[in-house]
Amino acid sequence: MKSYKIGVIKGDGIGPEIIDEAIKVLDAVSVTQGFNLKYEEMLLGGSAIDETGVPLPDETIQGVKKCDAVLFGAIGGPKWDNLERHLRPESGLLGLRKEMGTFANLRPAMVYDELVNASSLKPAVIQGVDIMVVRELTGGIYFGQPREYDANKSYNTMVYTREEVVRIAVVAFDIAMQRDKRICSVDKANVLEVSQFWREIVEEVAKDYPEVELTHMYVDNAAMQLIRDPKQFDVILTGNIFGDILSDAASMLSGSIGLLPSASTGKGVGLFEPIHGSAPDIAGQGIANPLATISSASMLLRYALGEATAADKIDNAIKKALSEGYRTGDLGDYDTKEIMTCSEMGDIVADYASR
Ligand code: NAD
Repeated sequence: MKSYKIGVIKGDGIGPEIIDEAIKVLDAVSVTQGFNLKYEEMLLGGSAIDETGVPLPDETIQGVKKCDAVLFGAIGGPKWDNLERHLRPESGLLGLRKEMGTFANLRPAMVYDELVNASSLKPAVIQGVDIMVVRELTGGIYFGQPREYDANKSYNTMVYTREEVVRIAVVAFDIAMQRDKRICSVDKANVLEVSQFWREIVEEVAKDYPEVELTHMYVDNAAMQLIRDPKQFDVILTGNIFGDILSDAASMLSGSIGLLPSASTGKGVGLFEPIHGSAPDIAGQGIANPLATISSASMLLRYALGEATAADKIDNAIKKALSEGYRTGDLGDYDTKEIMTCSEMGDIVADYASR
């Protein structure tokens, strides 16, 4: 029987609750699909600070490299907000992504037919939305040097190298070839030299993909267009900070941030995580929506392990649970059977996925 080693980082806040449900579902499909998953838990973020004094322990850096893929919940919370920046949970996550070389963040934003009424936008605007945001993850202003915090003057620097833009553009064009063959590259080339550079390099890469239609859009317009007419987008290719903001905006098309998964891939082991944070406001109450994390587990099976049938089983199980009317509290009071807990939603999806 095939066996895979999965690194598991539960993290903080709702992290442990949602990861437990994703593992429940992974176990259910692995049994029926004939492969074996071995899990190894690792520390990151606030829980790592509490146990080891640092947000990214060496054991985690070494541990992830020995896995086939890593499933991650979320980190952060008010308890650690007043620490120095480099000691905060978020620094641990940025550092881990850098260590893993996961330069490409794939964030699907799709609208489940069953949830068209859960969005704050009109059903006619969002029905059928299916966008893939490809965000550059290990460069740009979040990592640029020099950077400085001072009482009188502070700054960060937005830097991209040719290699960084080429490799993320190639990821986006490859994905577009498997989809509707349309890419909108989002930048701020009217103001930023680094964006002008980004645009020129994306144009160069496009020459290798004559079937893909490439357009460019300024980020402020893209934010507006995502809300005005999201169906115009297929693949959105963008840098680190613009992608961070646009993918959260895109997530609300689907009705809840608790629905959407992400995959961070690159040269080595991939990191699979929900797009939301640790939701300290609802942590420990058992009411978090586990579907984004369960979907991330599906992406892990599909993209890291090549277990597409098992991934399809999970995706279909999520759709079935939603179409049967099962909802967690964040999805509102629509035609629901009843509002269920995080664990009850995990049970339903695991049951459907195992059939
Ligand atoms: P958040 O995503 O944690 O929460 C935003 C809102 O969405 C909250 O009201 C929360 O209750 C709700 N929400 C999020 N996930 C949900 C789920 N699965 N089910 C139901 N509701 C859900 O963002 P925030 O409040 O800005 O940040 C909280 C903490 O998370 C901060 O410390 C932040 O730094 C951290 N954070 C971590 C990550 C990560 O680990 N990748 C990402 C973003 C934020």
